[in-house]
Amino acid sequence: MQTSSMALTCLARYAIVPSDFSNDRLREAYMTPLIEKLLILQDRDLRILKFEKELADIPLRKAAIDSMLDDHRQAVLKAKEILKGRQAEIKKAELEIESFREKIRKYRDQQMQLKNNQEFRAMEKEIEGVTKSIRQMEDRILEIMETVEAAQSDVKVCEESFKAEENSVKHEIVAIDVRANDINTELEDVKKARALLASELDATRIAQYDRMFRNKKDKVLVAVEDNGTCGGCHMKLPPYICHDARKQLEVVACGYCGRMLY
Ligand SMILES: [Zn+2]
Repeated sequence: MQTSSMALTCLARYAIVPSDFSNDRLREAYMTPLIEKLLILQDRDLRILKFEKELADIPLRKAAIDSMLDDHRQAVLKAKEILKGRQAEIKKAELEIESFREKIRKYRDQQMQLKNNQEFRAMEKEIEGVTKSIRQMEDRILEIMETVEAAQSDVKVCEESFKAEENSVKHEIVAIDVRANDINTELEDVKKARALLASELDATRIAQYDRMFRNKKDKVLVAVEDNGTCGGCHMKLPPYICHDARKQLEVVACGYCGRMLY
């Protein structure tokens, strides 16, 4: 083990890396318990962050799904309104026909009282005019009735589409709730494991790490890249920083983004 570690140190120093050794392996050979623990802590914090974001997004996801249902609900209402409008038009036409018939009945009564033929014929003409209006109105009703059939079929189509969408929405909502439950359970487990690990670390170091993690809401512990850049901000690091970070004699920070380097 000792020999292997020393051999890796030499390989790193002279950058002679055999093809079957990944740089991760080299890094592992250097890793101190502190960095190792901080990396596990960071991994847990990133998972907590991911879970919390997913939980926070749930109301938005549900609202988006519900709004899809809203469109279908609106389509049903609109189709029903059109149908109602056409049925109301028929009712109005029927009432008009009834009032025309009443008019004809009145004309007939008056006709009985008339004394001469001229007045009788004039009244007959009036009655003919009203009768013609009734026929026109009846034709109009037939026309509307055809559009009523189309409107009824529209309502049916919209209602069926709404029901299908409602079913799929219900399934999606159930799936989201199941996922939310799973996340809450996992979140609780990760938080417990995180607290346990944090209690094993130096309080000052944890406070420093926590402060940085709260600010970045992302990785604060990053590897020095093979080309000597910071794994967080990708800026070129001074050679001594790379050296110290890789040696892990102490926790070194990137001078550009402040992240801890290893
Ligand atoms: Zn950086």
